[in-house]
Amino acid sequence: MSEIDNQTVKLYNKTRKLFRRKYLCYAPFLSLRFNQEGFVSPCCHTYNYRLGDFNSETILDIWNGRKINDLRASIINRKLNFGCVDCKAQIANKNFYAVEARKYDILPYIPKYPAFFEIQTSNRCNLACIMCKPQNSNQITSELYKNVNTFNNEKFLNELNFFIPHLKLTHFCGGEPFIEEKYFEMWQKLIKGNSKIRIDITSNITILNDKTKKLLEKGNFNINVSIDSFKKDTFEKIRRNADFDKVMTNFKYIQDYHKKRGKSVNLNICPITENWEEIPAIIDFCNKNEILVKINNVTHPSHLSLFNLSVDELKNIYSFYAIALDNIKYNKAYIVRNNINNFKAFIERIKNQYEKKSVKNEVLSKEQLINNIKVFILSEMKSLTALEKGELLQKYLLKIETFFKIIETKYPEKIKPIMAYISGIDIAEIIFSAESKNMDEIIKDILFEI
Ligand code: SF4
Repeated sequence: MSEIDNQTVKLYNKTRKLFRRKYLCYAPFLSLRFNQEGFVSPCCHTYNYRLGDFNSETILDIWNGRKINDLRASIINRKLNFGCVDCKAQIANKNFYAVEARKYDILPYIPKYPAFFEIQTSNRCNLACIMCKPQNSNQITSELYKNVNTFNNEKFLNELNFFIPHLKLTHFCGGEPFIEEKYFEMWQKLIKGNSKIRIDITSNITILNDKTKKLLEKGNFNINVSIDSFKKDTFEKIRRNADFDKVMTNFKYIQDYHKKRGKSVNLNICPITENWEEIPAIIDFCNKNEILVKINNVTHPSHLSLFNLSVDELKNIYSFYAIALDNIKYNKAYIVRNNINNFKAFIERIKNQYEKKSVKNEVLSKEQLINNIKVFILSEMKSLTALEKGELLQKYLLKIETFFKIIETKYPEKIKPIMAYISGIDIAEIIFSAESKNMDEIIKDILFEI
């Protein structure tokens, strides 16, 4: 994978804030994300590129460690090679508003310390949404994921003291944050340490009790609301265990809460096979009600993901969206521009997906896979010496051999779907997955996805 060419970088930068064009992404320079198992990454797109394990390392060591510095160097050199597969693909496709890295262009950057902590350290939830995973809701059971909540909360609360003076923003997601006691402890601590820190929370807003309302009055909160449909039947079909009428009442409360503070509510939508036709109407509704929209790219489970539909079905959705887009009223207000740009970026993803699918994807053999990994290590990992490259290659080859031995012995019937799945993943993702996960995790994650 080569660096992104100058012309594309120039075009991308034209769509960004002037003062944030030095690096293609600011995430590893300002942000750390913690997950339920204690793993740390710079953003939610690089979960396969682990910067470290919080349970056994300090936050400061991870922040100053080799892995984050490798990632920073890759970004400074415009390579985006360390787990930044999606951002790189969207920039290369010139689908600039779909680039996750943009989010970090508007976040505070203070040299030396992280200004942003993203915390997803619990999967406790009261819902079992049809597109959710066991990692995000303990209501969804799976033999493969039994105990994901291994994050050391006490250690985190202790280390947090050091970072509070530098933090400007935090984001909590789950699970459902408003039912997680551990988060209440963190919020109290953040508010006590510095009441100016912005605390963003992504919530299904099914539960807004007095305790939560009292807390919201004390700090600088922003609530990102997860609603995928404004039709009762569809909403309750997707958000299993949720009561539509109650959520609408709470939504009104949240809207008023933000309005009183001169802020806008954020709405997160997950377009899937059940609600895709409703998306343009939701965008239009949000434009009229000054709600900022974020559109998630749902890839799991495969039977609900739009990206898994046939070329003809995707073309149909693309035409429907393109026509609907023309009918959405446009003005230059920030919220409207943001929502329309996000919707256009999503439409472009749909188009890219059917174009990609139209070109028949070659299913790799084991030998081709090994060869691609060799080529990547030898040609792309330029910071390594020849000796280090050789050692790394040996390590991966051994891991791949072990992987295939286990699959061939325990799950011979899964070899075909596994190879089809692996063939669709970027080689950098495969390498960083192999590096950061142990064999059990690798097998478990792949079996879950196929
Ligand atoms: S380039 Fe994208 S994937 Fe990489 S760190 Fe930045 S936001 Fe994350």
